[in-house]
Amino acid sequence: ATDKQQVRVRFAPSPTGNLHVGGARTALFNYLFARSQGGKFLLRIEDTDLERSTKESEEAVLRDLSWLGLDWDEGPGVGGDYGPYRQSERNSLYKQHAEKLIESGHVYRCFCSNEELEQMKEIAKLKQLPPIYTGKWANATDEEVQEELAKGTPYTYRFRVPKEGRLTINDLIRGEVSWNHDTLGDFVIMRSNGQPVYNFCVTVDDATMAISHVIRAEEHLPNTLRQALIYKALGFPMPHFAHVSLILAPDRSKLSKRHGATSVGQYREMGYLPQAMVNYLALLGWGDGTENEFFTLEQLVEKFSIGRVNKSGAVFDSTKLRWMNGQH
Ligand code: GLU
Repeated sequence: ATDKQQVRVRFAPSPTGNLHVGGARTALFNYLFARSQGGKFLLRIEDTDLERSTKESEEAVLRDLSWLGLDWDEGPGVGGDYGPYRQSERNSLYKQHAEKLIESGHVYRCFCSNEELEQMKEIAKLKQLPPIYTGKWANATDEEVQEELAKGTPYTYRFRVPKEGRLTINDLIRGEVSWNHDTLGDFVIMRSNGQPVYNFCVTVDDATMAISHVIRAEEHLPNTLRQALIYKALGFPMPHFAHVSLILAPDRSKLSKRHGATSVGQYREMGYLPQAMVNYLALLGWGDGTENEFFTLEQLVEKFSIGRVNKSGAVFDSTKLRWMNGQH
């Protein structure tokens, strides 16, 4: 097998609203990368936040991806009729991996109460130290743990962050990025109600889905340290990372509703052609190095390269989005 056959990427939207142009661009770059490398493009609905996730939002995301022509290749269903993966359907997998990490000692049970945790934060603040976990459970004896378990004290699963060392990644868009381990305290991966925490779900999913390249928005760059530590602890090979820059408004502020339509669905409803939208999204931070501004999806697949994605923010100007592809 060549490397090319192993490319597996995913688009992982949180279904908490409509598909934003930024999300659609991330999906498109993943799709183009998979197709250009003969790889697989997966869709994973990140609905761990039960309060903010809605079915309507999931439906809107699926509808808009289909409208753009960005079909995914796999899912938990059977035959050709597979829906997307959903985190809400994968709880037992997260639990299973959390138990593994307890066994290997990468994770410990933390019985600290909320008051104790608040106190720790206050003390750290007074001492002008970072708010990292300094409680006793990182080094508790087996007897101490058994005693709390017997009492039925609630506990979280806390990841033991190595105190020394540093993580360096070679981001395919941003270049070298590194973090010292000591900037991060031992963090919770599963709450006392058994609900796994977001970064943990993402990592278990990316690892078990054998994702080779994580292409996502820049805002997730800070999550990479936590995720990489979990990857290593679980013994999975690390994926490559590519963090795509923010989309800005014409005045270079963060793109928001006051700049006009920002969701794909709005443009669909206004009657724009999907090809025109795809074309415009592709050019937000990417170009083939020529003056050419009109590409079909097939041409984009042919020309796309992650190395040509721009490191700086791209400006979304809806007045430049044409109704039809090729219309000047
Ligand atoms: N669910 C995240 C989002 O919608 C994406 C996380 C990721 O790609 O790792 O922003």
